[in-house]
Amino acid sequence: MRADKCRAEPRHVSEKEHCILCGKLTETAKDQPVSEREHYIEGAGQLCRGCFKEIYMPRNNTIL
Ligand SMILES: [Zn+2]
Repeated sequence: MRADKCRAEPRHVSEKEHCILCGKLTETAKDQPVSEREHYIEGAGQLCRGCFKEIYMPRNNTIL
């Protein structure tokens, strides 16, 4: 008998998002709501901490 047919075992429980810029694995889980995410850019995607800093905290105070 196929009793285990309907058993859906979550295999990717701890799968994380990758950074859209450098491709590094972030600390954000894929099933985490966008509103609760850190380093997430609406319309773009998930960034890692490093890339987020690069974009929002330029190393120099010069005007881009
Ligand atoms: Zn990155």
